[in-house]
Amino acid sequence: MMDTDLFVAWFEESARLIRRERDRLTRLDAAIGDADHGTNLDRGFSEVCKALADDPPGSPSEVLTTAGSILIRRVGGAAGPLYGSLFRQMGRALRESPVTLAGFAAAFEDGVVAIERLGKATPGDKTMVDALTPASRALALAVRDGVGVHEALVKAADAALEGAKATIPMQAKKGRASYLGERSIGHEDPGAASAALLLEALASVAG
Ligand code: ADP
Ligand code: MG
Repeated sequence: MMDTDLFVAWFEESARLIRRERDRLTRLDAAIGDADHGTNLDRGFSEVCKALADDPPGSPSEVLTTAGSILIRRVGGAAGPLYGSLFRQMGRALRESPVTLAGFAAAFEDGVVAIERLGKATPGDKTMVDALTPASRALALAVRDGVGVHEALVKAADAALEGAKATIPMQAKKGRASYLGERSIGHEDPGAASAALLLEALASVAG
């Protein structure tokens, strides 16, 4: 079961990993974007942690809704509203507290659909969707196979990382990187890289 504290810890660990990897994310964005992805997310996730500490949430749903709203309001660029929609949609979908793995997997899938709807990206467009969709699929398979929460989240993190690496040979079809056309080939997508960090953070706190 996944309780409120675990969801808070997810955002704290995400903020820590994003801070640690900030320069790498920004370098990836410098290659095919405008070099702000690491700094954008670092600022946004530290504001999320501050809000969660100042006003402790009472349920997993509340954690996600608060986090999503702050990312939408406070993070410029494409990634703020996209990640914000993911978490707000998950917050809407999660009715239970604590959350089962099946409930989490379903909410995560809803969240990824919300990103796809907002950004109009599908797998293969070289975006965060290329890391999030395999993670969602891995979660659904884990639920089907009845594996435990930690093992399921590790599988999701592995799938996200593999999905992020698989963006390297892709040509960007959405977002700023798409302006580069074929010159976007050969670089990992920064949003896919950050999405993999978010899944890594979750697996690590659920361990
Ligand atoms: P910006 O491109 O506005 O500077 P960021 O640098 O914060 O925003 O985020 C860039 C990332 O956002 C990209 O690497 C990509 O993963 C993601 N992204 C951009 N546009 C879209 C979209 N339409 N759908 C899904 N993801 C997108
Ligand atoms: Mg950028």
